[in-house]
Amino acid sequence: MSALDNLPPLREVIARHDLRAKKQLGQNFLLDLNLTAKIARAAGDLGQCDVIEVGPGPGGLTRGLLAEGARHVLAIEKDARALPALAEIAAAYPGRLTVINGDALEIDPLAHVAPPVRIVANLPYNVGTELLIRWLTPPAWPPFWQSLTLMFQKEVAERITARPGGKAYGRLAVLAQWRADARIVMTLPPEAFVPAPKVHSSVVHLTALPQPRYPADAKVLSSVVAAGFNQRRKMLRASLKSIHPEIERLLEECGIPPTARAEEVGLEQFCTLARAVQAARQG
Ligand code: SAM
Repeated sequence: MSALDNLPPLREVIARHDLRAKKQLGQNFLLDLNLTAKIARAAGDLGQCDVIEVGPGPGGLTRGLLAEGARHVLAIEKDARALPALAEIAAAYPGRLTVINGDALEIDPLAHVAPPVRIVANLPYNVGTELLIRWLTPPAWPPFWQSLTLMFQKEVAERITARPGGKAYGRLAVLAQWRADARIVMTLPPEAFVPAPKVHSSVVHLTALPQPRYPADAKVLSSVVAAGFNQRRKMLRASLKSIHPEIERLLEECGIPPTARAEEVGLEQFCTLARAVQAARQG
């Protein structure tokens, strides 16, 4: 018996349902229920929330979320082999777990959850960044979710939370930090997973801000940031040439040296520049 619920230990669940990890599904399972409970706690107060979990697998994190009091968990799992194990968890927590068998990139979870919503996942590495970008770029802000608590490769987590001035700082940092508070709450060694991946992993907790940190049009900001970081070794007066014919003047007016490189420019300055570009295009 596990300490958290009356369900069997995860090793037993995996053996009984023959859930050998498949590499192509990004399967690296967490079997320590103390650890999954800790990740669930890092997501904040779950009691009043519906939680969306992507990729529950054998259900270690799912059990943590339910044991920590999530009002309801919607779990989206691509691998049908995991369904019997997840059905056992649903039976142990009546009415609190819904499992959808499908691809999280194709399923719209909104029909199945009620606000407030938190998203918590030990994401498959191959779809993690794509899902994060989707969650950070909804048609309107604030988004449907209150927070994201997500496991990534440590290097990706560092790119999400990076500050200006380093190699890790780029589009992902600007995108995430423009509209959310983002911090690394936990880093795990490869041995925490079965099978062990090659790299360390980190959990990032992002809280949606009620409105973007600085005003800017999302599309203009995104194009400025993309152009700047696509040629990150170039000075901005060169890398941003395609953004506006008078980019050098606009940079100067915003107090950004035209000779600076994108990685030296902070979030506020990028937003100031995006507003100037938009005004110059309209004027
Ligand atoms: N949450 C479990 C844990 O912590 O032990 C499993 C995590 S494992 C890193 C990733 C899980 O995501 C696997 O169960 C895998 O089958 C599932 N998965 C992979 N691609 C998926 C997708 N596109 N949509 C939904 N689930 C997916």
